Amino acid sequence: MRLIHYERAGALGVGLLDAEGRVRPYSLDPALAGEGVMAVVQAHVAGRPLPLADVSLPLDSVGLRAPFPRPRRNIFCVGKNYHEHAREFARSGFDSSAPQGDVPKAPIVFSKVPECVTGPGAPILLDPAISSAIDYEAELLVVIGKGGRGIPKARALEHVWGYSIVNDVTARDLQGKHSQWLIGKSQDSFCPMGPVAVTAEELDLTDTEVRCWVNGELRQNANTRDLIFDVPTLIETLSAGITLLPGDLIATGTPAGVGIGFKPPKYLAAGDRVTIEIGGIGVLENRVVRRGQAEQAA
Ligand code: MG
Repeated sequence: MRLIHYERAGALGVGLLDAEGRVRPYSLDPALAGEGVMAVVQAHVAGRPLPLADVSLPLDSVGLRAPFPRPRRNIFCVGKNYHEHAREFARSGFDSSAPQGDVPKAPIVFSKVPECVTGPGAPILLDPAISSAIDYEAELLVVIGKGGRGIPKARALEHVWGYSIVNDVTARDLQGKHSQWLIGKSQDSFCPMGPVAVTAEELDLTDTEVRCWVNGELRQNANTRDLIFDVPTLIETLSAGITLLPGDLIATGTPAGVGIGFKPPKYLAAGDRVTIEIGGIGVLENRVVRRGQAEQAA
């Protein structure tokens, strides 16, 4: 199933995208509509799937939102999780984990604050007073369904509700300066997400393409088969001592081809258009806007 969170005529909703590309809205308590697809995940986990309304809407009649606009807590993120990217980042000079070597021995996990999530088509805000080295990172996002602690690899996929797309936008200078990555990764607007969330059976984790373009130039082009630590390993690692909860989000890491991998680096600039496509899920696109200009336009 393919799901979206949307706005239409001033009201929020969650819908299923059908084979004809139309939207079938879920019958949802309006108080829960702001939760987006999370409302569907929680109903699924509780064993009370939400009914669909008996109408369908043209996709172009709705405004797309982030599928998980208010994650219940920080988004778990994995650093240096594709072989080639691990090498390019270790060479970049911004890698505070470099003493571990190019390829980490265990998953490197950091987080982004929930409030940095933004939707498809929303601006990625650039503030030159704070950072002059803003970079893109195309990533597969895992959505936890059934929670748990001590989940073994062999059972990990039973705990996955589905997947979406995120851009793990990063201020490289802040990432390096503060050693810990949270500030550089959590600036306002630094987690574009969506627009589509798919249920687990829609994706083959061993063969899913992850690609990213900036202004139409292909920068990242990889496949999830190149992950250093696969999704079951990440779930086993996180849940070993942290109880995972329904709706937890895990950004699985980015492949080679980020701006910092070029000499000189190709950082994002105002006006740039970042497009991420993950096979079987869809396309996420956002523009980069200077903060003052975005506020004037609002
Ligand atoms: Mg990342």
